[in-house]
Amino acid sequence: MTSLPPNAALLLDLDGTLIDIARTPDAVVVPPDLRTSLARLRTLHADAVAVVTGRPIEQVDALLDDLPYAVAGEHGGAIRHAPGEAIERAALADLPAEWLPRAATIAATHPGALLEEKRRSFVLHFRLAPEAGPALYAAMQALLAGHEDNFAIMPALMAWEMKPRGADKATAVTALMARSPFTGRTPVYIGDDTTDEDGMRAARALGGLGWRVQEHFGDAAGVRAWLARISA
Ligand SMILES: [Mg+2]
Repeated sequence: MTSLPPNAALLLDLDGTLIDIARTPDAVVVPPDLRTSLARLRTLHADAVAVVTGRPIEQVDALLDDLPYAVAGEHGGAIRHAPGEAIERAALADLPAEWLPRAATIAATHPGALLEEKRRSFVLHFRLAPEAGPALYAAMQALLAGHEDNFAIMPALMAWEMKPRGADKATAVTALMARSPFTGRTPVYIGDDTTDEDGMRAARALGGLGWRVQEHFGDAAGVRAWLARISA
């Protein structure tokens, strides 16, 4: 059984780690037992509980209120170190103005493809149209041409995300761990996706642990069952 080191700081991805992936990103559900576990974990770990996600912080707030003490959103592009504090935003390139309309056109050409607009990135989801994945990637590559210094296409679960370079989950973990109540504790990063490997690497570099959901817990329900157990 997976057990936490003493004095742990918990750095948790959201989708696919704490909550189940849904057919579309706004169809996710936060189970009541997760709320209970997060509240207890904050008490047990001196508030050192953070969510580190690709979603904008505003979406995390809508889903979890201030249950996590700190939130890193937009894959590290935005960080709020404590409840009620201002959101710090990394200096990153803004999406070229023509990209969102062009991305909408790309999505419209592939029935089932879904465009998710974020503050400084966009995602083309193909969960409902798996066969469209390669064509969507090719179209995004065409868009990216000439902008490679500032942007990159990141693979996600049944989706591609066009995001600015310069912030990732590693920079987020490092920034979170530099501040109270995280600093001095042992970071434990849990995530399920490619982008989470950056977070795991940063946690290990700070003497902590990085756990992949699929290997350690099976799925998000497994993570929630474990969180309930260690916070009971
Ligand atoms: Mg995830």
